[in-house]
Amino acid sequence: MKPKFSLTSLGCARSLVDSEHMVDQLNQIGFEMVPEGSNESIRVLNTCSFIQAAIDETEANIAELIRQKQVGDLQYLVVAGCYPSRYKRHILEDKYPDVDLWFTTKEEHQLQVKLSELVFQKRFQPNPNRNYLKLTPNHFSYLKISEGCNNWCSFCTIPKIRGEHTSKSIETILNEAKIQLAMGAKELVLIAEDTTCWGEDLYGKPSLSLLLNELAKLDVMWIRIMYVFPSRVDDEFIATVKNTPNIANYIDMPIQHVNTNLLSAMNRQHSKDFLCGILNDMKQEIPDLALRTTFITGFPGETSAMVDEVCQFIDDYEFSQLGCFTYSKERETRSAKMAHPVSLAIAQQRLDTIMTKQYHLLQQRMPAYLNKTYTCVYEGNKRCRSYMQAPDVDSLIILDQDPNIQPGELTDVTLTGVSGYDFLGHCV
Ligand code: SF4
Repeated sequence: MKPKFSLTSLGCARSLVDSEHMVDQLNQIGFEMVPEGSNESIRVLNTCSFIQAAIDETEANIAELIRQKQVGDLQYLVVAGCYPSRYKRHILEDKYPDVDLWFTTKEEHQLQVKLSELVFQKRFQPNPNRNYLKLTPNHFSYLKISEGCNNWCSFCTIPKIRGEHTSKSIETILNEAKIQLAMGAKELVLIAEDTTCWGEDLYGKPSLSLLLNELAKLDVMWIRIMYVFPSRVDDEFIATVKNTPNIANYIDMPIQHVNTNLLSAMNRQHSKDFLCGILNDMKQEIPDLALRTTFITGFPGETSAMVDEVCQFIDDYEFSQLGCFTYSKERETRSAKMAHPVSLAIAQQRLDTIMTKQYHLLQQRMPAYLNKTYTCVYEGNKRCRSYMQAPDVDSLIILDQDPNIQPGELTDVTLTGVSGYDFLGHCV
């Protein structure tokens, strides 16, 4: 009988791609993936740990799975990803003796061999025939183009957890893209810690445009670029997005803050003037550009005047999608030692100020989109997305009736109204 396993994937899309590779590894050796709680003997928990809230969620999951193991609902517990990458192994083994296997992000390729050794009590020869599996719907696919990060933002644990930036080769990425397209993907969502750094280790300089030009030759409706690092945006990148029809006119560029002194303290490698310059260039060059960004409130030294600067900035630069997080003090980071900490309560108030401002701005701006018609991808349950909306993280278009098509099929939708952050729409 096939060993049955389930997998819980915490954290971001980058972790989800790692989870897909782990599922793929186990499928190759005859393990069967089943939904969580289906009498499986093995649970794989892929974790996140880049801020305290993520650590808390991970530890709560581990505690619950240990409980399930202790009452006999699970036989083996495997924990992988960012959490075991952040802490020393002996500390984790002392804290959680019931966890059978730990894998850092750099060790995950060993899952197949180590787990089969554990389950079968002998060395196991994996089947080399790969059987690609995904955890997202078939009509879009995340394409992780590199691992790690060299930017060392002063608040961020990722460079320590995931290591130096390492690009996948262009052949590997194209091959993965072709597999995804053959499986029905219409949209490739490029992800990495910093997509704009792609190629620096391969070609001596960041070369995302080279990769984009090759991907754009494939039969793909939208290539969507996430996690753009502002200081690597240049004229070549903007021209590539502008001139390539199947690159969505959508850019996700996490800004984190706009005050120049705070950007410097964050080690973001650019000033507010630089940000204004590239945003002006992008908006001027790329028609109907949809911009997504994220901010952090409560970084040490932040004042309420700096939050006013953020509010003015989002008024000036019109982000169609915006997320905001409170600063999380992480022990190993440089910002943890900085003076003038801001309390969580004030950081939360500032987050509310920015999000309320964004909400009111959207209520003023969204009516300008009404009565226009967009090609949309149907997501099921009377929900669809245009190029302006990334899967999972952005708002949606809510249809007035069931279009009677399958998720992943295309439909033209006229926007008819606004409901909070979402549009209402009618299939043409
Ligand atoms: S760009 Fe900055 S915030 Fe993003 S992963 Fe790298 S160090 Fe962290």
